[in-house]
Amino acid sequence: MEMRFRRKFEAAHRFIAGENAGTLCSQPHGHTWFVTVTLGYRKPKHLSGFTNTLLPFETAKKKWHQWIDQNVDHCFMYNSKDPLLEFMLKENPNGRHLVVQGDPTTEVIAATFKAKFQSFLNEIDTDLVCTSILIDETQTNSILFEGDPQEHLPRMSPSQSYWWNRPDFSTNDLVSFA
Ligand SMILES: [Zn+2]
Repeated sequence: MEMRFRRKFEAAHRFIAGENAGTLCSQPHGHTWFVTVTLGYRKPKHLSGFTNTLLPFETAKKKWHQWIDQNVDHCFMYNSKDPLLEFMLKENPNGRHLVVQGDPTTEVIAATFKAKFQSFLNEIDTDLVCTSILIDETQTNSILFEGDPQEHLPRMSPSQSYWWNRPDFSTNDLVSFA
């Protein structure tokens, strides 16, 4: 038994790394994205016979949708090495800047979002796990991610705390990326 919910957001990005730099995706551009979260029990568990919910939908979605609506919606997603980031931090210091190592592809966004949702979920109920994240970047292109984000995200310093592992509203670690 799994619970599933979906949210829409608008965001821009561009790619700068390697062969990506020569493609149309090197042009800053926006998409209307949809993120679909699926969650379920880590181990089979009986419904209570009382409330009979995995978790009330409202409880499961509240912080996640706040994060999406107030921090991710209308953000620009950057490769931490993108020179545009430094410029935008000066021009629009209070803007919404989502930063990852390497190009902000739908693949890396799906992995960071799965880690972020799980960090929110851990605050509510440790019997529940985010089983997948589906990101629709366009009406025809999607990434489904069902694995362990820590095994799929780019190899980074194990000692650092990254925004996707913290149950706060962050979308970057600009102090440590600086
Ligand atoms: Zn794109």
